[in-house]
Amino acid sequence: MKVVDTIAAIATASGNSGIGIIRVSGDEAIEIVDKIFKSVNSDKKLVNVKSHTINYGHIVDNDKVIDEVLVSVMNGPHSYTGEDVVEINCHGGMIVIRKILEIVLKNGARTAEPGEFTKRAFLNGRMDLSQAEAVMDVINAKNEFALSSSIEQLNGRVSEKIKSLRKKIIYNIAFIESALDDPEHISIDGYSDKLSKILEEVNGELSRLINNFDNGRIVKEGVKTVILGKPNAGKSSLLNLLLGEERAIVTDIEGTTRDTLEESINLNGVFLNLIDTAGIRDSEDVVEQIGVNKAKELAEKSDLVIFVADASKELDENDKEIINLIKDKQAIVLLNKSDLGTIINEKNVSEFDNKPVITFSAKTGDGLDELENKIRDLFYEGKVKYNDELYITNARQKESLINAKNSIEEVIKSVENDMPEDFYSIDLMDAYTYLGQIIGESVEDDLVNEIFSKFCMGK
Ligand code: GDP
Ligand code: ZN
Repeated sequence: MKVVDTIAAIATASGNSGIGIIRVSGDEAIEIVDKIFKSVNSDKKLVNVKSHTINYGHIVDNDKVIDEVLVSVMNGPHSYTGEDVVEINCHGGMIVIRKILEIVLKNGARTAEPGEFTKRAFLNGRMDLSQAEAVMDVINAKNEFALSSSIEQLNGRVSEKIKSLRKKIIYNIAFIESALDDPEHISIDGYSDKLSKILEEVNGELSRLINNFDNGRIVKEGVKTVILGKPNAGKSSLLNLLLGEERAIVTDIEGTTRDTLEESINLNGVFLNLIDTAGIRDSEDVVEQIGVNKAKELAEKSDLVIFVADASKELDENDKEIINLIKDKQAIVLLNKSDLGTIINEKNVSEFDNKPVITFSAKTGDGLDELENKIRDLFYEGKVKYNDELYITNARQKESLINAKNSIEEVIKSVENDMPEDFYSIDLMDAYTYLGQIIGESVEDDLVNEIFSKFCMGK
């Protein structure tokens, strides 16, 4: 049997709380905790207790009682990681939790890397890669949609879907191969019609998953929003209004792939990630300062443009330039400074390219509710249905779906062009492999390490 070193980490959040949990996993998990645990009710060592029991006692360090604890013992393979796992439930003060972790480490465990418990669960076949990724998404869920789609993924709905698509593909690869090997017994006549039908089906399902990605991602992560408008239209004021809203919770977005600064705000459950707000705040006027190209680039990166127009003045060339810039974007026009009286108003809608227009005042806050509702309509109720639809919200998984779809389309072309059958199986095999990446088959170690390194400690 291979020896698995024993890892330990604090599994609960940092900061004081009611209880804290130290998780220990590996071949010696139980032995290590045995060295520091004294049961109150029995003389039994933890190695002798039944699996999946909770044991009451004390953590001791050189006979000194450190804390009163409940220790759960779960023997592998029926545990989170698939290895022997012990979880020490102690009091939730940071000093006591850290002290117990320190004692566990002193007795032979090593500190777990971020995500290492879940990585072991994956490597030990307790869950596939899409489920492991879902663990993190469940923890980071910012709203109910994000939570429910991650839980579904964790429960294996994505895996099931992917496996069923792969099954169809591998069946056809096998059929082609055997027909080519044994043409006397397996006839391939009329097969391409059947194959075409199956390919169209698979392709359709892949398209659907890919299309759902953007809507799912928006609700999960927030609407990437950029505020544009000519100098003095009121962009900074809008930003301050949004950020200063009592209901708004401002959080810094952690993230590794983002190249622009984003600020996440929560307006009654509508999550906006404002792009490049630093630009607006520090250098004042984005379009002027950063130039049209950069503004266009920002608009392209965003899901939503909020175009702030000064409604107390006539539209000018600058406004028109921006309108032109955002023609193809999902945008909302704010007729700002409406408290000063409006020269342009909702009757000028056609000039705004028929984008939704809201009479607004960044000064008084007039129109803010309407803005929230509009965003909700555009991105939540209107797009994402809380029904049976399956949402893949992970960018890595989407990438694999797109690659698989491209391969399937190659096969469709080969069939249409009456290419020889052995052409089909190469692309079918590619599609099969790409789909496998989603659930973690045929992925490189580096990728696995990369994925788990983004996890938090103790998970
Ligand atoms: P920016 O250049 O687009 O960022 O515009 P600012 O937010 O800096 O606003 C320019 C000027 O317009 C400031 O003096 C603001 O106080 C004023 N302003 C912004 N929004 C409103 C509004 O809704 N009503 C009124 N009366 N003044 C506003
Ligand atoms: Zn400004």
